Amino acid sequence: MSDATHLTNFSGDKKAWPVYMTVGNLSASARMAPAMHSVLLVALLPIPIKMRDISASLYNAQKEHNRMVLQYVLRHILSPLMDADKRVFYAKCADGHFRHCVASPAAWIADYPEHRDLHNLKNGLCYWCECPQPEMGDLPTQQHPPRDHVKYRALSEANTTAGKVGLSGVGVHHGFNVFWDLDCVVSDLPKPDLLHTMQLGMLKHLLGWLQDFLKQHNRLEAFNNIWLSVPAYLDMTRPRRAYGEVSSWQGKEIKTMSRFLVGVLRSALGGPSASQRSVFDEAIECSRALVEFYFYCQYESHDEETLSCMAGALQRFHSYKGVFRQFRAGKRVTVEGKAHRKDLMVQRDEELNAVRTSGKSATFQQHLRDDWRRYIHNEMVEYHEEGGNFNFPKIHQLLHFCEQVKRYGSLQQWSTETGESSHRTQIKTPYNKSNRSGDIYTQILEHYLRSDVFAVRKLNNDSQSGTNNAMSNSIPSIATSTGLKFISVQRNTGSTAVKTFGGVLATVSDADLRDELQNATYRFLLSRKVNITLENLLHSTASVYHGIQVPVNDMHGDQAIQNVRCTGDSTWHGQEPRHDWVWVKVSHTREGQVVAYKALQGRVPYRLLKLFKLNARERLFWCAFVETTIPGAGGMPERVSSMVRVTKPTTGSGYTVISGENIVGAAHLIPEEPVSSGKPNKGWIVNSHIDLATWNKVYI
Ligand SMILES: [Zn+2]
Repeated sequence: MSDATHLTNFSGDKKAWPVYMTVGNLSASARMAPAMHSVLLVALLPIPIKMRDISASLYNAQKEHNRMVLQYVLRHILSPLMDADKRVFYAKCADGHFRHCVASPAAWIADYPEHRDLHNLKNGLCYWCECPQPEMGDLPTQQHPPRDHVKYRALSEANTTAGKVGLSGVGVHHGFNVFWDLDCVVSDLPKPDLLHTMQLGMLKHLLGWLQDFLKQHNRLEAFNNIWLSVPAYLDMTRPRRAYGEVSSWQGKEIKTMSRFLVGVLRSALGGPSASQRSVFDEAIECSRALVEFYFYCQYESHDEETLSCMAGALQRFHSYKGVFRQFRAGKRVTVEGKAHRKDLMVQRDEELNAVRTSGKSATFQQHLRDDWRRYIHNEMVEYHEEGGNFNFPKIHQLLHFCEQVKRYGSLQQWSTETGESSHRTQIKTPYNKSNRSGDIYTQILEHYLRSDVFAVRKLNNDSQSGTNNAMSNSIPSIATSTGLKFISVQRNTGSTAVKTFGGVLATVSDADLRDELQNATYRFLLSRKVNITLENLLHSTASVYHGIQVPVNDMHGDQAIQNVRCTGDSTWHGQEPRHDWVWVKVSHTREGQVVAYKALQGRVPYRLLKLFKLNARERLFWCAFVETTIPGAGGMPERVSSMVRVTKPTTGSGYTVISGENIVGAAHLIPEEPVSSGKPNKGWIVNSHIDLATWNKVYI
């Protein structure tokens, strides 16, 4: 894989362009784990000079020259793979056996601009197929022909006018391509890159379109307020800033946003007018389709059914995307384009001023001015190529994803996110340790070589001596009968200093809530046939806990532990207190019986307000004081958002005490009333997108 990266974060423009290599017969999980040292730095490619310094007359020639330099350097690096003798060898494997190996390139992972140059393609085209540029945004009725590099090579080497026209017709530059000499199908080398096509590509586009859409319909403020009211969930913290407040989001952050985007959108677009209804529905459908397509992309394994769902989601996206068409040519592109143009003009003026004061001839100045004009023009043309319609490469590439899964397995393993972590350990750390001047590239390579040799040696030693870091992580806590554990913030004491139920009550600052807790606990004990006076209850032994560890099965059937938080009035890492939502089992189904609350599978989401252990009349209870909800529409998902809406009960207190054993996992709910409004919530959207396990469980 190759990926150019900046060496410095804030200033300077030192870049490195590393090439990494790994072997295909490692498991995807080993390859993706940085500690396994399975991705090796093999070379640093030369960084081309800045096109700004090139005069217009040489602009295209220099671009061509850069492309060729890249091709010939790669040819040198890859030459062992072209040598019939060197690429066949015997390797001693980890199991002690020798194997007869043949090295062939199977994949090349890079972002779009690098692939475009590596494949000698014109900008804006697909490296997998010959789809014409004006059709890139469409869902094709039949597949476009795959790229045939055997044919391209023949046409290029024939070097005839007809050949050049033929190449140009399919958007290929005339000239040498290093991949032609390798034992591979060239158009099979690129692999789907979720980081750039989805997170930093389509999802980012979608978030941008939505900003314009919401602004147009006066819902942006509502959207932002609900966005900021999204509660924390297990590993996910509450969003601290609205989408529009930050100019550049990282891929990882956008991945997190995809987990609550549709729920927030549904909540913000609630109660549309008659004329708004259909366009709001389309916006939700389109967003949901893209987000769900992305979820399928993240599956670790697939079958025919998941693949057909994946294709279906993409189809839905295409049939609804028209609702955002007007924002494709939208202000944002223009504003960003204008800003870039302004930047370039400032640079131009600085250079022209410097030349003027240095006393260069008027002709020279005129030439420079012309060069700058053409350079800015070229930049702007490239800038606007993606504007105005849906015909850009990223939207088209999604069409190939299902086929890529069928041929090469799960998509996660190809994401350039893996390369990003290699950058840190193999490029940036060595750079920081270099003297930062002189031949830094040699220093980076040598540092990497040495540290990697030590690291691999240590890995081998550890595996032979059986060193195992997986020490059992003992947290003092008491297990309930279902394996669920109540935990405390003060891990060593097991629970806080509260000793009686009266003390538990005293930790609740809100008087109404305190009454609710007392009454609900009393009702709970009655239902358990514990005969107790109020006086005795207040003096019963009790202690407060701050979280529950719930054992759950993830979508692949593996055991995992969910840490659900309930901090009471105490802050959580200096932020507001956490009162997480949990799934509570309310019905036990027998075979053949209809599941209660259909999509919710006999479970309802309740909000944890207090966790406590109670010893009443010699019986021990693990209790959770919760705020209850009632599923709307009998637990059926809404047609458009495909999410279930729950409401506050209109009868009864809305609070209850349940046994901790009925808690079966963490839930995530998005309020309809933003926290900032101060009004009580009447309804919530059950966010089935929060993680893949929830999404698989909550569905029609
Ligand atoms: Zn294609």
